[in-house]
Amino acid sequence: MTTRLYYAEPYRTSFSATVVSCAPRDFGFEVVLDQTAFYPTSGGQPYDLGSLGDARVQDVVDREDGAIAHVVDRHLPPGARIEGAIDWTRRFDHMQQHSGQHLLSAAYDRLFGVRTESFHLGATSATIDLGREVTSPQIRAAEDEANRIVWENRPVLVRSASAEEAAAMPLRKKSLRTGALRLIDIEDFDLSACGGTHVAHTGAVGVI
Ligand SMILES: [Zn+2]
Repeated sequence: MTTRLYYAEPYRTSFSATVVSCAPRDFGFEVVLDQTAFYPTSGGQPYDLGSLGDARVQDVVDREDGAIAHVVDRHLPPGARIEGAIDWTRRFDHMQQHSGQHLLSAAYDRLFGVRTESFHLGATSATIDLGREVTSPQIRAAEDEANRIVWENRPVLVRSASAEEAAAMPLRKKSLRTGALRLIDIEDFDLSACGGTHVAHTGAVGVI
């Protein structure tokens, strides 16, 4: 299990860690650390780029065994202490898009009862797949509502709850996970179970 620093500190851009393992792959090496601030591709949010010591990070994978694997361009010896640095421009863009997605999905849900089935964040655009067709006026209304919450600069809080506690909370989407849930709480607007990284206040999303 890799300790995920981005859960508690999404604004952290550098960290120290110990190399647990380093295995050759078709291209480069797959490195596991004892802890990391690198976000792996997960839940619609793409992986971070950056560096581990002199090595460039080219992909970050959330492995089924609970480890986060960093795909890098050179060997890092197990046991070595290394400094990690996140490409903050890319990561912050993902945090803005991801937080904006929460706002837009919540707006569709609150205004029209339309559910978000899935979403995708990319370098140039973000897309949301809705549960049913919406009209142009509805799209404008949802965007206006999401932007209103941006301009109010509301706090975005991270909370945790057991699955039983969460079942009694007004989550936008029921979570099927068991054990502790990580909840993203946009004050008086949206409460969602999510493992991604988000801005601290809605104003940082920018215009939707
Ligand atoms: Zn999220």
